Amino acid sequence: MLNRAFKLSSTWKFFHEECERLKEIFSRLRYPDDLVQSTIRQFIESKVSEDSHTQVADKREAPIRIVLPFKDQKSANVVRKQLADLSRKINADISPVYTSRKIKDEIKVKEDKPPLVSQQCVVYSFQCSLCDAGYVGYTCRHLHQRIEEHKGSAIGNHLREQHDMEPEDIAQSFRILRKCQNKFDCLIFEIFFIQELKPTLNKQCDSIRAKLFV
Ligand SMILES: [Zn+2]
Repeated sequence: MLNRAFKLSSTWKFFHEECERLKEIFSRLRYPDDLVQSTIRQFIESKVSEDSHTQVADKREAPIRIVLPFKDQKSANVVRKQLADLSRKINADISPVYTSRKIKDEIKVKEDKPPLVSQQCVVYSFQCSLCDAGYVGYTCRHLHQRIEEHKGSAIGNHLREQHDMEPEDIAQSFRILRKCQNKFDCLIFEIFFIQELKPTLNKQCDSIRAKLFV
């Protein structure tokens, strides 16, 4: 399964998300967490050493991703297979992205993350939980203040327009990419992560050049 997840994931970020999903599934099936964790870790270590030789994983063309609701594993497998056939026929990498509210609702994810909202001077990312849309930004204030503001920004608009939902509980879709020392640091790492992740909700006017020369 890990191997398949790896092949279907164009970047480490997607692979990481896929791993998180697998972890949820296995913990639901009552596999010991330690076993699942160590299996994933071993797999990643093997891939990292492969990758440093071949450098292929990140250079693959970005696949076309289709967001689908997750019904059950059987139909998911059927769809994956059909899309794989189609991919071969049209010579483009198409892969399904499943969204599942069910699993998230049923399993309460343990809150062992650092208190995200009280962080200051950070570069952060927003990743839509329903599609590939993302945003990278920085703030020198407390992150929670910035998250509040994002309810009225491109992020809030995206949720309202694309998913017909109010941006209420969005804090969990934010991640800290980098803790910075000062504003300049923030700016530099913001450029780095925007280039790296190519978040779709960042507009040109948010770009570093605009900020540096203000
Ligand atoms: Zn979205």
